[in-house]
Amino acid sequence: MLCSSNIRQKFVDFFKQKDHHHVKAAPIVNKEDPTLLFTNAGMNQFKDFFLNQQEAPYQRAISTQPCLRVSGKHNDLEEVGVDTYHHTMFEMLGNWSFGEYFKEEAIACAWELLTEVYKLPQERLYVTVFQGDEEESLELDQESLNTWEKYISRDRILYGNKKDNFWEMGDTGPCGPCSEIHVDIRTEEEIQQQAGKELVNTGHPQVIEIWNLVFIQYNRLASGQLMELPAKHVDTGMGFERLTMVLQGKSSTYDTDIFVPLIHNIMRLSHKTYGKDNKVDIAMRVVADHIRAITFAIADGQLPSNTQAGYVVRRILRRAVRYGYTNLGFETPFMYQLVSILAQQFKNVYPQIKQQQSYIEQVIKSEEESFFKTLAVGLHRLEHISETLNINGQQVIDGPTAFELYDTYGFPPDLTRLIAQEKGLEVDEEGFQKALQNQRIRSQQAAVLEQGDWHIVVKDVDSVFIGYDQLELIAKVIQYRSI
Ligand code: ATP
Ligand code: MG
Ligand code: MG
Ligand code: MG
Repeated sequence: MLCSSNIRQKFVDFFKQKDHHHVKAAPIVNKEDPTLLFTNAGMNQFKDFFLNQQEAPYQRAISTQPCLRVSGKHNDLEEVGVDTYHHTMFEMLGNWSFGEYFKEEAIACAWELLTEVYKLPQERLYVTVFQGDEEESLELDQESLNTWEKYISRDRILYGNKKDNFWEMGDTGPCGPCSEIHVDIRTEEEIQQQAGKELVNTGHPQVIEIWNLVFIQYNRLASGQLMELPAKHVDTGMGFERLTMVLQGKSSTYDTDIFVPLIHNIMRLSHKTYGKDNKVDIAMRVVADHIRAITFAIADGQLPSNTQAGYVVRRILRRAVRYGYTNLGFETPFMYQLVSILAQQFKNVYPQIKQQQSYIEQVIKSEEESFFKTLAVGLHRLEHISETLNINGQQVIDGPTAFELYDTYGFPPDLTRLIAQEKGLEVDEEGFQKALQNQRIRSQQAAVLEQGDWHIVVKDVDSVFIGYDQLELIAKVIQYRSI
């Protein structure tokens, strides 16, 4: 069986042989671009080359890029743990052409790598091409279709819509039609039983997308308009964990050598077994996934905090701790004990983890300690709220209550929503925002009132990340000092 580090290496070697420059991965935390908190694809660091704002020092490049998809346009958080192939943090293997080769060569390379180097059986592959979009006045991607017909039978080439086959980095920026490669890993028996069913891009866990070849032709402006770029580029991204799953003959990424060491250690620490009880399994997958996201983010300099990217890290950590507490029986910090596995696993490719291992462990441990202090009481409170709602035949946790859970017990609103969903309840999101807003006004007023006796040292405004996709400006903690 090919181990994951060999799989990664084969990718690098293949494209190096084809004159691609191996570029170092960018940090997972995106400090440069205010439109993007975290790196969500390998191409992010090349954005300026695509937009012609900077000349690329090489025309062909590759990278293996840690990505995080927990906010903004690409947010997979709710999938994680429930399914077996979406992660918050994953590695994207990518090759690029900056104004040099285009669709034909990109498709040829992808096909050669998958079928000749990795030896994936052709009859297990499907490809998709962009069908066009009337609203955007975009046409069918005929060139990709014609190219694919050279390699694969017509019935395995499917049309895809804008949602699946038009890649965009964010709300603005480089974008274009894409062609994806999907793998069918069902058993022969399942294939026969489900014959005739169209399963690509339907969320089927055994017919999954592994590689996306994006043909960057446009820049999406803030107005929503698409501007044709002067040069055409290739931007591809292949999910490393999914590729490894397929090549190792597994039906879940969590069964690959990327995740097994984590799962084993979670079993050891929790004295529970993976693969027997769905609730336990989900929690173990969540913990195994989230520790990677948190560790990579901290290693790249993003501490958990109450603002922006830091709050995303805190939310992920608290989500994992809650799963650990409720489903795995942890009552004291446990996540930090998994960092050593990642330090070891990635020491040759992302050495920043090993270099900062004890620091990362300390940060995570103290975050866990502080959340464990309020978690049990908060969950108890939520239990009580849910019982009262049930008795009254109601289903919605109102805004002030969700705010109380946030403010007093440190429950990020998405965590409250997750627990509420498990209990068949909803959260009044608008009411929550209102309560948050009110508190902001109150604290500003209090600050003004107290100014008579106190001297303001720092007064600053910063953003606090309070929901999946929204940034809310609130007054930063105002520090006072006696004159
Ligand atoms: P999906 O449809 O499965 O959500 P996607 O179309 O959103 O994937 P792309 O933006 O095309 O993904 O990213 C390129 C590749 O990265 C995908 O083909 C897939 O292999 C991998 N990938 C994307 N999202 C994830 C994720 N959350 N976890 C693991 N791998 C992912
Ligand atoms: Mg997706
Ligand atoms: Mg997709
Ligand atoms: Mg895709």
